[in-house]
Amino acid sequence: MWISRKTTEQQKAGHAVTDAVAAPTLGRYGAMAINDNATRRGVDVSGGDVELVDLVKAFGPMRAVDEINLHIPGGEFFSLLGSSGCGKTTTLRMIAGFEKPTSGQILLDGVDMTVTPPHRRHVNTVFQSYALFPHLNVFDNVAFGLRRARVDAKDVSRRVSEALDLVQLTQFAKRKPAQMSGGQQQRVALARALVLKPSVLLLDEPLGALDARLRKQLQVELKTLQQQVGITFIYVTHDQEEALTMSDRIAIMSNGHIEQIASPQDMYEAPATVFVADFLGVSNLMEATAIPSGGSGNRIKVGPFELTAGHGQSPSGNTKATIRPERVKLEPADAVGRENRIPGRVERWVYLGNAVQLIVKLATGHSIQALMHNDGAEIPYTPGTAVQVHMPSNALRILTDTGVRLASEIAATE
Ligand code: ATP
Repeated sequence: MWISRKTTEQQKAGHAVTDAVAAPTLGRYGAMAINDNATRRGVDVSGGDVELVDLVKAFGPMRAVDEINLHIPGGEFFSLLGSSGCGKTTTLRMIAGFEKPTSGQILLDGVDMTVTPPHRRHVNTVFQSYALFPHLNVFDNVAFGLRRARVDAKDVSRRVSEALDLVQLTQFAKRKPAQMSGGQQQRVALARALVLKPSVLLLDEPLGALDARLRKQLQVELKTLQQQVGITFIYVTHDQEEALTMSDRIAIMSNGHIEQIASPQDMYEAPATVFVADFLGVSNLMEATAIPSGGSGNRIKVGPFELTAGHGQSPSGNTKATIRPERVKLEPADAVGRENRIPGRVERWVYLGNAVQLIVKLATGHSIQALMHNDGAEIPYTPGTAVQVHMPSNALRILTDTGVRLASEIAATE
């Protein structure tokens, strides 16, 4: 079933192109309009504002998307981030119109598009599989949609040239897809989508098939491109670094619902739930118990040690505390400070070049990571060294546990 679904998706990639061009297109960029009747038909959008209201998609008894509410203002680079099967692609496919919602609404620029067919939405999709026509050269691949829409030959030529220029492929116009690298093919797919001037571009793991280095390069290019064209990008990925690098905002999804929506910085610095902290980067999760107190900060107990957590939910009963590795401070075992410190012993020492990662076993039994910047000074904490682990209260956060199975738990059982 999995394979056949992906196959269908690839076939629909072809549809995405043909449908989108058959669509009335507002021509948000004036001169590049395909069909100016679009506004009169009253179904088109121009600003790229996307709103999902109580959106549900059920496949039999399973809710792949479970009452999602989301507002993406026009021009935003928004990522749906989550592990495999959490409902990212299904959400994207509903926005594209390839999948019919079980309930809820999809609004594009305030207009309800829930039952509008894909070709009448001002939305285009770029897939991981590129879905280029192998027998057509780059120019004709990009021109395909415009020609289907019977755009004047002169305009086709100008718009395709502009689109190829945008993705820096002008000199490859005569090449066939098979004569190009994966990264170049993906740029052709982007040009083909952008030449139609959609208000919203949906990107489903577009860099997933590329090697790590090329992916990094294209991440930067994609972000620059999005800022240049100024349209809404909705980007599906399971790669946290990719989402952090490119997005204005990210929604982290699990089991069909959204755990948190935030800017990359807020998502990393201020995760709202245990799931988000665990999913994004290394978070050093520790079971903790709340201590009722009237003072400032949240008093918690980690094992027998009392700590103050400066951030997060006011705890009650059992909860979890987290601190990022770069905020953990190691001190000699006999250091004088006592507040927010737990004794431990260095277990491992990993040289990362620009930093050193230390794994420390706390007296509570938790293993935590500390990251020390490599500034050339000697790091005295070799394996076996007894240390005091300082977790400053302004770096310690209490988290809400939504009960969702954590990515790290799933990875540990696979
Ligand atoms: P991936 O990153 O692996 O593509 P995803 O987060 O995009 O995952 P979806 O493809 O949206 O996840 O799938 C969400 C859930 O819905 C999965 O459990 C998937 O098996 C299921 N699903 C998706 N499409 C169908 C379908 N047509 N029929 C039945 N189940 C489906």
